[in-house]
Amino acid sequence: MTVAREIRIEGVVQGVGFRPTVFRLANKYGIKGWILNSSEGVTIWAEAPQEIIDVFLQEILDHPPKLAMIVKHSIKPRDLQGFDHFFIKHSEKSDHRDVIISPDVSTCEDCYQEVMDPHDHRYHYPFTNCTNCGPRFTIIMDVPYDREKTTMRDFPMCPECAHEFEDPMFRRFHAQPNCCPECGPHTTLCDLEGNVYQGLGHQFLKEGKILAVKGLGGFHLVCDATNGESVAALRRRKVREFKPFAVMCKDLDVAKRYCRISPQEAELLESPAHPIVILELLSLDDLPPETAPGIDTLGVMLPYTPLHHLLFNEDLEILVMTSANISDDPLIIDNDEALEKLKGIADYFLLHNRKIFNRCDDSVAAVVGGDAQIIRRARGYVPLPVDLPVEPPAVMLGCGGDLKNTFCMTKERGAYLSQHLGDINHYGNYQQFLYTIPRFETMLDVKPEIVVYDLHPDYLATRWAKGQKGLRKIGVQHHHAHMASCLAENQVTEPALGVVCDGTGYGLDGTIWGFEFFAGTPENLERMAHLSYMPLPGEITIKRPARMSFAYLYELFGDAGLKYAQRYLPELSREEQQVLVRQLENRFNTVLTSSCGRLFDAVSALLGICTKVQYEGQAAIEMETLADVNIANTYGFEFCTGTRPYTLGVRGIFEGILADLNNDTPVSEVAGRFHSTIAEMIIMVLKKMREDTGLNLVALSGGVFQNELLFLLLRRRLAEDGFAVFYHKKVPTNDGGVSLGQVYIASEVIRKDVSCHSIQDLED
Ligand code: ZN
Ligand code: FE
Repeated sequence: MTVAREIRIEGVVQGVGFRPTVFRLANKYGIKGWILNSSEGVTIWAEAPQEIIDVFLQEILDHPPKLAMIVKHSIKPRDLQGFDHFFIKHSEKSDHRDVIISPDVSTCEDCYQEVMDPHDHRYHYPFTNCTNCGPRFTIIMDVPYDREKTTMRDFPMCPECAHEFEDPMFRRFHAQPNCCPECGPHTTLCDLEGNVYQGLGHQFLKEGKILAVKGLGGFHLVCDATNGESVAALRRRKVREFKPFAVMCKDLDVAKRYCRISPQEAELLESPAHPIVILELLSLDDLPPETAPGIDTLGVMLPYTPLHHLLFNEDLEILVMTSANISDDPLIIDNDEALEKLKGIADYFLLHNRKIFNRCDDSVAAVVGGDAQIIRRARGYVPLPVDLPVEPPAVMLGCGGDLKNTFCMTKERGAYLSQHLGDINHYGNYQQFLYTIPRFETMLDVKPEIVVYDLHPDYLATRWAKGQKGLRKIGVQHHHAHMASCLAENQVTEPALGVVCDGTGYGLDGTIWGFEFFAGTPENLERMAHLSYMPLPGEITIKRPARMSFAYLYELFGDAGLKYAQRYLPELSREEQQVLVRQLENRFNTVLTSSCGRLFDAVSALLGICTKVQYEGQAAIEMETLADVNIANTYGFEFCTGTRPYTLGVRGIFEGILADLNNDTPVSEVAGRFHSTIAEMIIMVLKKMREDTGLNLVALSGGVFQNELLFLLLRRRLAEDGFAVFYHKKVPTNDGGVSLGQVYIASEVIRKDVSCHSIQDLED
């Protein structure tokens, strides 16, 4: 008996080839009716015998298109209408917008083959895409996802493309950005004098010139990575002396010539998101030292648009590809802006006329101890949601921190993190923060009811949040948010222990926290232990680790510390040392800190590894690079367990390091021993906390856990001691993940209707 059923499917189901797949299945099973892209996802009307419809639905659920992500589905009986065929209905805009927009997807194999086939009419066409690949988030202006609501609306389809778009048997059926050389966008290669050139600029790259190339989420500055002079010139012009540049390799084989690549890393490199993957260099001599100075890793990505594939040839197999921005301002996305702002940096400009609507940096990821971990979450991942363990009782907006900012907006159980927005103390990044929030509101069709902010009174994100009218505002301590972020992405709801090793976060007592131990549930965390406070002599110390080293030496050893400083910190002049002594004595312009990042800085500088940093974490990264991983013995330290919070003292560590230095122990050995010691300290505190609380789950969070040596050492030791360990994979362990923790805490505060001293609650 023929029946009618209405099937609704929600999730990432638009722009991923869902309708043609369903169309083909309907034909296969002889099902009549239709499918419709609606604002909720897709709706299918199916008329056939019940058991056929069941098989049909099961096949959809079991084998959805590669890029689809089904979040939920429902099936309801309806009255038979007697359709005589199956067809695709046109989009309608309904009240809800429960459809999840797809992130941008790297070029698929089919499109790649076409682009490389001299007989294909898309031969060498840089904007080739299909239902399985191409631009998505970066070109979408509104929902539902239709060409008219993307920046591709400027390019009406030619009859041939329209035909591919209309016919469900083609792989470009309803590929919204579908285009070809006849009707789609085009590139222009030019210089600042207005001269226009043929081609994509291979000859210029080969000559060592620097190109500004408009990509998917913004511009890159590009040069031949094997040409030391070009790379040096790029560093000089971009005023970026030490921060490593990412490279793009022609293909996986080329990447394997430069880096050690595990099967898992290869999979990550070739995943639909195509992130930059941090890989171990095979040799420090294969590439000019200008590419990644001072470290033995390289950020590598593979071409993710046809334009990128076409930039390579036999002579150009590895290119530096660094975000085109000026001094940490947002990525440039606009042709005119590129010509204006990259004057003096780029020699030539490879532009195109498709607008970028949502600016989006390359994502950065790494495989650490068998897990793919995201370090910077942007292109290819955003706007996919991360599920919260429990649905928040209201729409939340977590504003994040000021550095590595992301915000996080909720809709039902989904936590939608924005793309990495960078340091919003830079005007342009702050502007981007301001205009990306309403875009997420439009995209998700939600209005935040609760704004969650970091307690740091000087954070711009915090000031913005507090200025919002008519909303409830909840302030959350930075490291509470870090821990909650880790619990959220791991779906942990029970009480847990947490270790947060971080750079800087405003503490509940007005000091700067950063090496913190907590126990409890997100809305009610007790600070069980922390690193002993040390005075931080001025904000500038964050950029100059030698000053932090000096503070440790002087505070721990007094006048004897001055002698060590003279011996081991030649970077600090006599005058500066005298000023520092006065500053530390009078506590003038100093703030107390328990930061783990600063402890790493201090040790790195004391070992003479890094005394000045040009990018966040540099001192620790260079120390990790040098550290001998086989050193298992540790320095002494002081764990004071009188009253909670317990404290960790590091006098023993510094005594040990100074003795080692005095004995000319190799720096690599000292660095290795320091890492082992930190891991041992954490284990000792956690064991005590387990004794106190009976809890055995441990969440690890904070930027310091990007340190692979420390992370892996700790993870192994925790497992040996029987702890269940959780850490970040889906969102960054650094401040890029804080906004997720903010919304999780606020959600639990409201859901459980608690008020506790550590949560600031402002009602308008
Ligand atoms: Zn066309
Ligand atoms: Fe942090």
